Amino acid sequence: MYWKKLSHEEIKNTVFKALGENLDYRGERPILGIPGTYLDTTEFYPDAPFLQDAPYMSAMVRNPNHIGVHTLSEKSVLEVFEGTQKIERDLIKLVAEEIFHGEQDTQDGYVATGGTEANIQAMWIYRNFFMKDKGARLGEIGLVYSEDSHYSMPKGANILNLQNIILQVDPETRQILKSSLNEKIKAAREEGIKYFIVIANLSTTMFGSVDDIDLLGDYFSDQNVDFKIHVDAAYGGFIYPFTNPTSRYTFQNPYMNSITADGHKMLQTPYGTGLFLIRKGFIEYVKTDEAQYIPGKDFTISGSRSGANAISMWMILKIHGSEGWKYKMETLCDKTERICKKLEKMDVEYFRNPYNNIIAIKAKYMSRELAEKYYLVANTYEFEPEWYKIVVMPHVKRGTIDSFLIELAGEQKQVKA
Ligand SMILES: *Cc1c(COP(=O)(O)O)cnc(C)c1O
Repeated sequence: MYWKKLSHEEIKNTVFKALGENLDYRGERPILGIPGTYLDTTEFYPDAPFLQDAPYMSAMVRNPNHIGVHTLSEKSVLEVFEGTQKIERDLIKLVAEEIFHGEQDTQDGYVATGGTEANIQAMWIYRNFFMKDKGARLGEIGLVYSEDSHYSMPKGANILNLQNIILQVDPETRQILKSSLNEKIKAAREEGIKYFIVIANLSTTMFGSVDDIDLLGDYFSDQNVDFKIHVDAAYGGFIYPFTNPTSRYTFQNPYMNSITADGHKMLQTPYGTGLFLIRKGFIEYVKTDEAQYIPGKDFTISGSRSGANAISMWMILKIHGSEGWKYKMETLCDKTERICKKLEKMDVEYFRNPYNNIIAIKAKYMSRELAEKYYLVANTYEFEPEWYKIVVMPHVKRGTIDSFLIELAGEQKQVKA
């Protein structure tokens, strides 16, 4: 994995050059047919002096539309926004090939609104793939995921009419139970489910736990059934590959067919940046032929979307370079490790994947008041919580961690006394 760090100046020049290659609604060329324009100037006036030094804000004000998917050909979907659409293409290539080790030019993708859309995009593609290529009927397609998975799975299953197959995890290790996998798939097959869309979590939201993608892949291969694995790395996509050099979550692993990696979680980009990546040859299953007015047709759930979003992801990856981002993610892991060591000294039980920055602490070790004071998130707000999690994000200061740990230790003393 390697890409070079760029300076602010280089980034600025690249983005402004790309904006210059887009058609400018304010420019000389006549643009009569496009139902888009720059942002309303009463509020967003384009001659604000600071914009000259603010490539992302400039992109927002210029308002390029990145509708469609830009990796399918070198040609832009809407030629009018050719410059910034090329940045999106570069972004997809960088993430697919450097971070997830895909072969050159063998992945497609786009910047979706978030992890929810990217996950549902994957389900939509595989559902249509099974129906068009394998003659599957709706009731025969199951969506397999662990009970720790994000709620976008049942949401997507509901929208797409897929059958939910929810696997149990071990309460301590949060790993999918082989026994549950056996039972649930056997039962599903008896009920007539023949095709499986399988979700592997590259870290769950609550625990930061990571599913064993090879275990899932081997299991379904042995069953001799049609299946495709989508990886939900909405959370872990921009941390885990940097902290675990032997990650199995790469396109070199044939089991991984597509992946969601949110910008707006670990990468600290603005909301509206959930990257979707998939091996070439699949996105065509969701081509909307009726998208007559889009020269390249549409293959996405979202339709119109801001080009500034793709630019923000590209900028952050480039300003750090691969080495810089790796250092930043390793530093978060170090901070997380330090908290874990202190918890162990206090005999407080927790779960943590060593490559992630999430610590789930068993709720019995702290009062609700303490958890609420520090805005820890509970695993449930419907029932009595079993876990409270800490997410060691870049804003988390060591002083705050220390105060929390002191208060937690105080509560342990009271319990023991
Ligand atoms: C946050 C998250 C999602 C959903 O992402 P949004 O960007 O909020 O739509 C999906 N899966 C996991 C594991 C997440 O952490």
